[in-house]
Amino acid sequence: MTAPLFNRLALIGVGLIGSSIARAARSTGSVGSIVATARSPETRRRVAELGLADQVVETAAEAVKGADLIIACVPVGACGAVAAEIGPHLAPGATVSDVGSVKAAIVRDMAPHLPPHVHFVPAHPVAGTEHSGPDAGFAELFVNRWCILTPPPSTDAAATERLAAFWRAIGAKVEIMTPEHHDLVLAITSHLPHLIAYTIVGTADELAQVTRSEVLQFSAGGFRDFTRIAASDPTMWRDVFLHNKEAVLEMLGTFSEDLSQLTRAIRRGDGEALFEHFTRTRAIRRGIVEIGQDSPAPDFGRPHPDLPQGALPRPYAADES
Ligand code: NAP
Repeated sequence: MTAPLFNRLALIGVGLIGSSIARAARSTGSVGSIVATARSPETRRRVAELGLADQVVETAAEAVKGADLIIACVPVGACGAVAAEIGPHLAPGATVSDVGSVKAAIVRDMAPHLPPHVHFVPAHPVAGTEHSGPDAGFAELFVNRWCILTPPPSTDAAATERLAAFWRAIGAKVEIMTPEHHDLVLAITSHLPHLIAYTIVGTADELAQVTRSEVLQFSAGGFRDFTRIAASDPTMWRDVFLHNKEAVLEMLGTFSEDLSQLTRAIRRGDGEALFEHFTRTRAIRRGIVEIGQDSPAPDFGRPHPDLPQGALPRPYAADES
């Protein structure tokens, strides 16, 4: 347990990320109390049933009153409207943040609605799963995962450090960068891989010459990992691509060129080029294991105790989004 870093945390939106923050903040004692709100009465009711907050209120405007830390945990496209609603009700000196997977658009959409007497420190915890809603969260989600803060230049450094301390208290490692740099880095490490997964799973589904049951039956051959990623929340990912358009298109351009090179190597039977490429990518995987971003155990070390005996074990653990 740590001494509370903030007296009152207001969570606006309590899905996978919001409920994980609530659970982690509770279990570490890093905030004095938690007030939560969500768009639908069903989610608010569930949040109350799960005991995730000290108080559950109907509106975001009500939630932020007297709060010294406010975190919007809603889809990227909804953050501007949340900022417009809470702006007039924010206490002087409060820290306003979010968890959106895109950052430049968040700054663009939220900053104009926030009064000068609050500290705006956008954040992105690079941790998640393909599950959504308040039941999907867990307190350990952020442990040893990165949380990237993208404060605008005018933000008070002490406020940024205080939010960084909060994220460290709930287990994360913190990095600070500009929103634009964040968006470029995440475009290649997260957004493009998700787009590729969405594409492959959709393509396999449309293949007439391979029956649907065969695709499912032989899914161990790499396809199954793609299906897990492609099961990610449609609203969240629609918003990511709509709001990180430029960076994703730039990375997609480079990716298409590289894909053309591999296509040419296959067409020409250029084994040397293929071998060289695959050797290089294998070294990248080793580098990821070396810096502790994944386990070297076969199957990525992800246990799957719920599969029947004899079934192939497989993933389902914290992923990076
Ligand atoms: P989630 O489980 O689907 O929860 C979303 C929450 O936002 C729910 O409380 C939902 O309310 C509310 N909401 C949805 N649309 C809204 C709207 N138009 N206006 C107001 N509230 C709305 O989503 P999540 O996975 O926690 O994602 C939340 C944020 O975290 C997103 O910005 C996402 O980019 C970011 N993020 C996600 C991951 C991940 O892997 N999932 C990782 C890092 C960051 P109701 O339940 O009442 O509909």
